[in-house]
This record gives sequence, C-alpha cells and structure tokens, in this order.
Amino acid sequence: MSNSLGLYIHIPFCRSKCPYCDFFSKRGTYSDYKEYADVLEDRIRAFGCAYKRDVNTVYFGGGTPSVIGEKLLCELIDEIKNSFNVYDNAEITLEVNPDSGKKLDFFKLRSSGFNRISIGMQSAVPDELKILGRLHSANDVISTVNNVKESGIENVSLDLMLGVPGQTTDSLKYSIDFCTSLGVKHISSYILKLEENTYYYKNSDKYTFPDDDLTAELYLLAVDYLAKKGYKQYEISNFSIPGFESRHNLRYWKLEDYLGIGASAHSLIDGRRFYYGRSIEDFKCDRIIEDGEGGTEEEFIMLSLRLSEGLDLDKLKIIRGGEPDPEFTNKCDKFINAGLMKLDGRRLSLTPNGYLLSNSIISDLI
Ligand code: SF4
Repeated sequence: MSNSLGLYIHIPFCRSKCPYCDFFSKRGTYSDYKEYADVLEDRIRAFGCAYKRDVNTVYFGGGTPSVIGEKLLCELIDEIKNSFNVYDNAEITLEVNPDSGKKLDFFKLRSSGFNRISIGMQSAVPDELKILGRLHSANDVISTVNNVKESGIENVSLDLMLGVPGQTTDSLKYSIDFCTSLGVKHISSYILKLEENTYYYKNSDKYTFPDDDLTAELYLLAVDYLAKKGYKQYEISNFSIPGFESRHNLRYWKLEDYLGIGASAHSLIDGRRFYYGRSIEDFKCDRIIEDGEGGTEEEFIMLSLRLSEGLDLDKLKIIRGGEPDPEFTNKCDKFINAGLMKLDGRRLSLTPNGYLLSNSIISDLI
C-alpha cells in the first residue's frame, strides 16, 4: 500500500438545511466562516507536523464549502501546501452548490490548485428541486458548469439523486440527459434514504416516496442508461468516463489512509480510526474521539464489495491468513446462482441487482 495520504476538509456551513440531509451543517456568517477557517489552518499545521506524509488527494466537503468564498478556500489550500508535501498531480476537489457556485471565481480557485469540482445538482427537474428544498435551478447548474469549464477545470462531477418524491423513470432520464449534455466527467447517484432527525423522516407522511420496486427500477435504469452514455459504474453509486474516477473517494473504499480535519470529519491512519464530533466547539477544542481499529477483514470485505472491481480473494487470503471458510464460499455460491454476485477469476463482485441488496448481502457475509 502506498504511504501517501488523502486529506478531507469539512466545511460545516450551508445557506439552509435540505429536508433529507443528516450531514453536520449549520447557517453561518462571514465572521463564523473566518473563525472556523482560522481553526482549520491551525489544525492543518499541527497535523502537518505530526504526519510527515505526501498528500495525493485533497477533498473539501460539507456542508457547502463554496459558501465560504474563494478567498478563504485559497488560504486553506495555501496552508495545506505549506504544511504537507502535496503532489504536483494531486487531485484537489471542491464541493460546490449551484446557488453559491455560480458566483465563485474558479480562475482563482484553479490557480491555487483546485482541479476537480463536484456540484450538488440532485435533479434537473424543477418540481424535484423544489421538493428537495434546493435553492438552485437547472439554469444555475448550467452557469456553474460553464464557469468551471471556462476557468480550465475539466474534471467536473454532478450529484444526481434517486428516489426523490414524484420521480419517474422519464424524469430520471431527463436529468441524466441533462448531466451528459453538459459533458461532465463523473456522476454520483445516491438513493435517497430517510435518515433519522431529518425533516423528511419526521414528516414522511406528507410525501409520496417511490416504493422499493420503483426505487429499484430507477437505480437499474441509471446504471444501464449511464453505461450507454459512456459512464462506467465503478462503485455502487459512482459512475465516470474512464480515467475520471474520484481518486479521493477510492481511498475510502480501498482502505488507504486519509485524514479528516473539521467538525464531524473522520480519519483512518496507520490502522487507527478517529473522528471529530458533530460540533464546531468540539473541533475548536481539538476533541478527538477514538473509533477503534481500521482495515479489519470485515471492513475489507464490506468496502471492496462496493466497488465494481470487487473483492480480491488473494488479498483477502493474505489479510485473514488463509482461504475463506466454507460457510463464506457457500453463501457466495448462493448469491452467484441468484444473479446477485459474480466471480471473475479471483475477484468477487456484486451485480447491479446485488447492489440493491448490498446491505443485507454484506451483513450476511461478514
Ligand atoms: S446543501 Fe448539502 S450539506 Fe447542506 S443541507 Fe443541503 S444536502 Fe445537506
């Protein structure tokens, strides 16, 4: 495994709270952003001293990192480059919302090092955007993508949500056509889940969510239609033009080291998992919570099976010190016969139908 590191920077601010969202985020003013960015810079410096590691991916997520504006974002990148040895070809991603993104100076962001922009589009259908509580329109997405491309950044990703109340196979196709017509390189397509403590969860009786059959139909349509348009599925919810897979997110699924800095950010370094709690105050006090051992056999199976390349049985043999036990093999045979898994040489992976049942299949296996 390479000794390089991925850095995740969490910006916990949003202009408003979307009804389905359970990420840690809150409203803030510019002085809140500045104060938080100052703490981030301190932590970046401290971690840079503690971990003398080369960085080959950086990811600014949230929340809505774009709300803090390019000045603070560029200062944070400068601090990262001062504190760590960042590869010249490092992938540096910024999550952007189309309502704040259309006003950002992407020329400045690009010259400071950002080279990948991930845009929270979710849908191109006005009624769906409204029900999702999004503040942007499809035109804002077009403006943002054009601004990004004009700056010379070609590596653009769009988020597309599946299972939106009122979504149909036709409206999903419309949204996919919209994404592909913009020539983006990557599409993340997550199925909406009712998470506890969200507005949707507490008010689920007010909405008509697609049932399991329609959700499955939407997912399988997305996999198939995106493939026809040249977007290869490389993970349960991620699709790209070959060569534009998210290098940072692949670190998570391949159990490569990453350091998360910011409120609610998680880390895995040298087999140790730890995180900051969901509170800006805790982050300011540098209150780190230990989260046990990382890189276990169970994690390796669970995360590998998210990927289209699947589980490498030779690596599994090394990790566990022997071939999988017969019970594991028998269960896999059962899933293969049911069309939920496939075996290609020594690689075991889920099929699209298997992905739909990934939680129960994986928990049965580990
Ligand atoms: S913009 Fe993103 S992080 Fe913020 S509330 Fe909406 S979904 Fe959550």
